[in-house]
Amino acid sequence: MSELNLILLGPPGAGKGTQAVRIAAHFGCGDVATGDIFRANVAQGTPLGRTAQEYMDRGDLVPDEVVIAMVMDRLAEPDCGAGFVLDGFPRTVAQAEALDRRLAELDTPLDAALNFEVTEEELFRRLAGRSAALHRSDDTEQTIRHRLEVFAEKTRPLIDYYRHRGLLVGVDAVAAIEQVAARIDAALAAFGVAVAFGGVIAASV
Ligand code: AMP
Repeated sequence: MSELNLILLGPPGAGKGTQAVRIAAHFGCGDVATGDIFRANVAQGTPLGRTAQEYMDRGDLVPDEVVIAMVMDRLAEPDCGAGFVLDGFPRTVAQAEALDRRLAELDTPLDAALNFEVTEEELFRRLAGRSAALHRSDDTEQTIRHRLEVFAEKTRPLIDYYRHRGLLVGVDAVAAIEQVAARIDAALAAFGVAVAFGGVIAASV
């Protein structure tokens, strides 16, 4: 199975986490979900968790230097030797540039930036539902709105960043999980990244 280096772009609630797990399992590569890493550190009360928590609770981004150092360490772990699916990173242009520098050093190109396209209305509905189901402290109505604003201001510019580099692959992410997975499969295949994704889904349902 070939190596895959993939970024998942898209607002909170777009379904990136669910698809990241499936793609990483299929390719046997690292699943790097920055929000999950922060939440684990908060739960364990580590210094990193204590730094991150106040930003997360407000729905703000954790400062670039903190996130970049954490992701660079994570990418050096053995599972990322077979490639990676980055879920939730980069979220700012500075983060994207840091990733570019690291990949250039490693001489490993990015294969694609998969952009999850979801309407604001649908996002709000999903995040409010997740809030009720998971009791995430950053899923209150006010914080959800703020996180969507932060996305629009800081992260949306990355869509053009990757489009200009010819790496952007758009996916309509308003559908059932299996359907979005099939769309990802088709979009990546059309882009030249072969993902025999249907078998994974069939085996897991
Ligand atoms: P997520 O689960 O990806 O929505 O991330 C939850 C929270 O973790 C975000 O609202 C941020 O506070 C923080 N976070 C996750 N990834 C990043 C990142 N790449 N840059 C800055 N903050 C991040």
